[in-house]
Amino acid sequence: MSTWLDGRIEIVTADITTLHVDVIVNAANPSLLGGGGVDGAIHRAAGPQLLEECRTLGGARPGEVKMTKGYRLPAKAVAHAVGPIWRGGNHGEAETLASCYRRALELAEAAGYRTIAFPSISTGAYGYPIEQAARVAQATVKAYLLENDSPLRVTFCCYSPGDTRVYEQVAGEILGAS
Ligand code: ADP
Repeated sequence: MSTWLDGRIEIVTADITTLHVDVIVNAANPSLLGGGGVDGAIHRAAGPQLLEECRTLGGARPGEVKMTKGYRLPAKAVAHAVGPIWRGGNHGEAETLASCYRRALELAEAAGYRTIAFPSISTGAYGYPIEQAARVAQATVKAYLLENDSPLRVTFCCYSPGDTRVYEQVAGEILGAS
């Protein structure tokens, strides 16, 4: 575990479904009806009521985020973000990925939540290179927290020690030593 930006950002290795934060972010697909990876883990841990609520949402486009309750999760809410599928990097992937982070932060703050955890959106089945995704994630979160003087505390939840090492290396450049 490491902390950055005066403790407002932390990087951990964990299963995001176990985190006691207000909001966890899901790396969903446009149907918002569940899938593999972190999406499957979140639906399993939250229970079938999550899928029932997701059926009412009408899906989402890449870069969009929709919130539900957390049901059986320790988290109070889930922000379902649809990341970009990696197609080489020249198809707006970075902008779409940044939108996922920004919209999730905006929705969480607007709902009065104070703590939010992100998985590494798009870096599993969607194929986004982890180091590039970590740069987008950290630059977008840092800019949001500073520009909006936001009270949110943000956790980057990496699923493997290797991903955590990449996030910490990128943090040394983007978030600064602290
Ligand atoms: P995407 O389709 O957006 O790529 P994936 O779920 O396939 O979504 O992968 C996104 C990231 O989530 C990957 O880095 C993967 O290792 C990670 N991941 C998978 N399961 C979990 C989990 N339970 N908690 C946190 N991260 C997870």
